[in-house]
Amino acid sequence: MLWMLASLFFFWCAFREIRGSIVPPQGYDHPTPINNSYLAIMLALGVVLAWPPVHRWYFEWFLSRMATELADNHRASVHCNTAFDTMVDPDMLFAGHANPRTGKIGLQAPWCDVLAAYLRHPAHADERELASLDIFTHESMHIRGELNEARTECQAIQRNYRSAKLLGVPAGVAKQNALDIYHFNYQERGKIGGMQSAYYSDQCAPGQALDEHLPDSTWSTP
Ligand SMILES: [Zn+2]
Repeated sequence: MLWMLASLFFFWCAFREIRGSIVPPQGYDHPTPINNSYLAIMLALGVVLAWPPVHRWYFEWFLSRMATELADNHRASVHCNTAFDTMVDPDMLFAGHANPRTGKIGLQAPWCDVLAAYLRHPAHADERELASLDIFTHESMHIRGELNEARTECQAIQRNYRSAKLLGVPAGVAKQNALDIYHFNYQERGKIGGMQSAYYSDQCAPGQALDEHLPDSTWSTP
């Protein structure tokens, strides 16, 4: 929001400069000619400052569309929380939250940035970047209507391959990333125990009770 206000201020300065060249400013008989370098600097500042919020809106719009598709067309709208949003969010201890009634998904700072970093170099994703993909898929599963955390997480595990491909990751890399999340990130949860164990089930495995037998499941062999 602050970025946008700062940007608007510089656009207003540019507008005032152009208007001054057409309409004589108060107390002057003639319009003042445009100071080109001043105008260029004001326009450049306006564009540069508008970029972060515009980029974030675009990313949220993109994630909302993909989350809707993952959620079997239950409408999802993704919001990337800023550090400030996260501080005032009652669910700040969680990486994200989703409300199946409203379709709203909130991703806490800095998880949208981590997800964007993952999408820039999926073939070299680290464990945290892989976790960001899983969080996005997990919250999308809540929008389908599932509220039990262990079942939600298992649905995400099976769809991380689909999810990565939807977000533009090449199929081979998406498969490897999704399997890494299942083999490493997910199994780690089972070992950590405590709060993490609410997100884990030993029935989340090929052929076990939580296997949905999806044709494009993370663990299905083509
Ligand atoms: Zn959840």
